[in-house]
Amino acid sequence: MNCSKCSKPAVTLIRYSGQHLCAGHFLDFTEKRVRRELRRQLDLDKRITVAVGLSGGKDSSVTTYLLSSILRKRPTVEIMAITADEGIANYRPGGVEASRELCRSLDIPHHVVSYKEELGWTMDRVVETDPKTIPCSYCGVFRRYVLNKKARELKADYVATGLNLDDTAQSVLMNVARGDMERMARLGPHDRVQEDMIPRLQPLRLVPEKESYLYAMLRGVQFHDATCPYSERAVRGVFRDVLSRLESEIPGTRHSILSSFDQMRPWLDRQFSVSKVRKCRTCGEPTINVECKACELVDKLEAMVT
Ligand code: SF4
Repeated sequence: MNCSKCSKPAVTLIRYSGQHLCAGHFLDFTEKRVRRELRRQLDLDKRITVAVGLSGGKDSSVTTYLLSSILRKRPTVEIMAITADEGIANYRPGGVEASRELCRSLDIPHHVVSYKEELGWTMDRVVETDPKTIPCSYCGVFRRYVLNKKARELKADYVATGLNLDDTAQSVLMNVARGDMERMARLGPHDRVQEDMIPRLQPLRLVPEKESYLYAMLRGVQFHDATCPYSERAVRGVFRDVLSRLESEIPGTRHSILSSFDQMRPWLDRQFSVSKVRKCRTCGEPTINVECKACELVDKLEAMVT
């Protein structure tokens, strides 16, 4: 099959638009969407520092590559990357190495921040101590904590994540299924956040996961292709399966979910105003409670070992 835009052989069929695209037109199609998102999410006339939360996996590596190629020619934009080391043996060291390598090749400053150093726990020890838990419920809280803290120390204005269209549509569905509109209101990208919290950018929010993979392959973006040993226990997996079935039966479902979320956004913003924050009594990081969620979880773990 040939490309719908030229006579070259197509490398992919974009089912939700019915287009066959050759390598060149596919790369162009992806880059245009990311450029548009960046213009929508950022004020590019201001001087800004963007820290990418880089795990070394395909999505965050593609995000780092795209931010670097699109934004770094602008003298007002500074880009850096932060890798959170969760302390998962046989998984994270490969991601840290891939992140280091990518940043070296793109000439971007790279910082590694570990759960062990910041919170005293590795994810392997968390799972050993609380074997019945869903590991991601600890890991997600710890990751937000270390990334926000490090980004603030580095004076970053934004943290860019590698969240793609599938991730975002899954999050919207999960929040609808739980009836948790308040959490839905906190989904990124952010144009308003609490004091000391660094807003999130989501450059890949319109790029489906498979297209992110194909982009990495065609552009030769190196990444660590491995799966976290704890991911099978994640509740998100159920929503991933449901969504991928819906998308295969009704192409365009993920875009429709995202569009519904965007239409709901003004209502969500009015309904759930930004809560006032205080400093966590244990670590001093911002929280709406007396103690932040990360310290609460650490207390819970420590109680289990004593
Ligand atoms: Fe952490 Fe879960 Fe991701 Fe593994 S799959 S790195 S436990 S959030």
